[in-house]
Amino acid sequence: MIQNFDSLYDMMEAFPDEQSCIDQLRSIRWKESAYCPHCGSTKVYHFSDNKTHKCGDCRKRFSIKVGTIFEDSKIALRKWFVAIYLITSHKKGIASTQLAKDIKVTQKTAWFMLQRLRHASQTRSFNQPLSGCVEIDETYVGGKESNKHKNKKKKGTQGRSTKTKTAVIGMVERGGKLQTKSVTNVDSSSIIPIITDNVEFGTSIMTDEFRCYRQLSDRYNHRYITHSVGEYVNGDIHTNTIEGAWSLFKRGVVGIHHHISRKHLDKYLGDFTYRYNTRHLGEGERVNDFLSGCGGRLTYRKLVS
Ligand SMILES: [Zn+2]
Repeated sequence: MIQNFDSLYDMMEAFPDEQSCIDQLRSIRWKESAYCPHCGSTKVYHFSDNKTHKCGDCRKRFSIKVGTIFEDSKIALRKWFVAIYLITSHKKGIASTQLAKDIKVTQKTAWFMLQRLRHASQTRSFNQPLSGCVEIDETYVGGKESNKHKNKKKKGTQGRSTKTKTAVIGMVERGGKLQTKSVTNVDSSSIIPIITDNVEFGTSIMTDEFRCYRQLSDRYNHRYITHSVGEYVNGDIHTNTIEGAWSLFKRGVVGIHHHISRKHLDKYLGDFTYRYNTRHLGEGERVNDFLSGCGGRLTYRKLVS
């Protein structure tokens, strides 16, 4: 049976040991029926140690952790659960130094755990195409050229340039889901395919007047406001929802991780997007939702390559 809880304290009470965490993971992952992570067979035998299983078809032995981000990890599931609680409940994300202190692991271990959790949240946030009314806008993460001394500024790095900053495209349904993606170049040939991949054709799209968005009118009901002349709202045409999401991202994630490498930006974006998209869930529901999507392990070698 899946246990519910609504605070960190209640979670620790509900899962006092490794076995209770295994039981919870099993209830969540095997909601319909037990299956083999190697071949998918549902002919599964259970050993009396209450944690080992064997496939009746491919004959392989496995635990509930096989095929998840917890596979090959010596860290107790209870510590993973606390890490998931912290990462999903803290709106501003959590730094590896803080997680290390909170669950008593080394910073290297905490960093690795966070990367695995981010990987899991990222692969989950890309699912259904967006529809309804979708606001789209880009934001720029990285070097703030305007704050640097004049003679240290690189030429042509202001505004929409990506010479020192990384551009991120955000697409959000009003009252619904957010999707984000970093791009190397901010031009139509980079932006338009991301939008057509993620937004249902025929959807109403709201943007600002940036010329790269102009081509959207071929496939969408595209409306835009003209920021450059001080126009921010025109009836129901505005981009306030996506701008609100960006300011949350900047105050939180960018505020904590001041120097985000391009390599890791997508993971932080996935993390942020996941929290944004589960904002209606209670703390415990969010942990259980996370656990239901913990499949797909990330090896250290793959992570650092
Ligand atoms: Zn099997």
